[in-house]
Amino acid sequence: MLKDRYGRAINYLRVSVTDRCNLRCRYCVPVGGFPLIEREEILSYEEILRLVECFVELGIEKVRITGGEPLLRKDLDVLISGIRRLQGVKDLSLSTNGVFLAEQAARLRQAGLGRINISLDTFDGEKFRWITGLDCHEKVLEGIQAALRAGLDPVKVNVVTLKEVNDDEIEKFAAFAMRCPIELRFIELMPTKNCFLVERDRFVPSSKIKEQVSRYAELIPEERLPGDVAETYRLRGGRGRIGFINSITNAFCSDCNRIRLRSDGILRLCLHGEETLDLRTPLRLGASRPELMDLIHEAVQGKPKGHAFKGLPEDEPVTYMCQVGG
Ligand code: SAM
Repeated sequence: MLKDRYGRAINYLRVSVTDRCNLRCRYCVPVGGFPLIEREEILSYEEILRLVECFVELGIEKVRITGGEPLLRKDLDVLISGIRRLQGVKDLSLSTNGVFLAEQAARLRQAGLGRINISLDTFDGEKFRWITGLDCHEKVLEGIQAALRAGLDPVKVNVVTLKEVNDDEIEKFAAFAMRCPIELRFIELMPTKNCFLVERDRFVPSSKIKEQVSRYAELIPEERLPGDVAETYRLRGGRGRIGFINSITNAFCSDCNRIRLRSDGILRLCLHGEETLDLRTPLRLGASRPELMDLIHEAVQGKPKGHAFKGLPEDEPVTYMCQVGG
């Protein structure tokens, strides 16, 4: 088992396959954009697979594909089926904005994708365009239904709550979880470089959202397993669940089990920390699997105890979520 120096078992790898995204969510993509990774620096599927093999041999059991927008990468099902074939991968999931999901959900499921997270911050098409810069709200809704039809399970819908943007829609979201077999998760806005400065006043604590949901439906708590980032509830009389991801008001660093591979082969040990390891260079210089595994094992020992911000931060945020993959 892969353990860090604080005794945390690291069994979850998030793999960003691209830093490109078709959306420009105001809380995610920095004002004025960000420097894109050069195309030749982005790992091929073969390279990603070689690295994932090393991680899995070290004890990684859960793999999530993310981005940027991962469905922008051609033939993502080829990568999915490659990872699925690796002995030791117990859980394979994808995070997507859902815009291209309707046409790909069945193929991804067939390739071995188990579950999926889809971002949807509003039920209002106009607002969707304001938040994301693109007029494709309907396509995301179709994507969610296609994921359910394809048998991806669970289908989680991620809502970043933003004051005076979507906090008037909490009841609509709860009603969605009441009638659909999805897990709807309210995520606290995290600071990201440049965007946070713009969106600073938009933060809404989960406790406030929970209060509003409780007025709509009775929440029945579910058991929280180690490594679960969400506090999850069933809705009495409902088909779906509701989760709260309290990244700011109740940071879950002490049982963080995750590390992140960027699309350029940089291993990131904490979503909000600077600690990284370049795996692309040794990989392209022909390092053997045991050599790569040694590098990863050593780097994991440098995973920080917790991220810089506790509560609402005053310190300089460091993360471009779209580069690291959330
Ligand atoms: N494009 C994919 C998607 O939309 O899910 C994957 C990448 S996106 C960066 C992953 C998740 O991070 C999304 O659910 C998004 O809403 C969330 N996210 C991005 N910036 C965030 C922020 N500042 N605070 C909280 N969540 C954020």
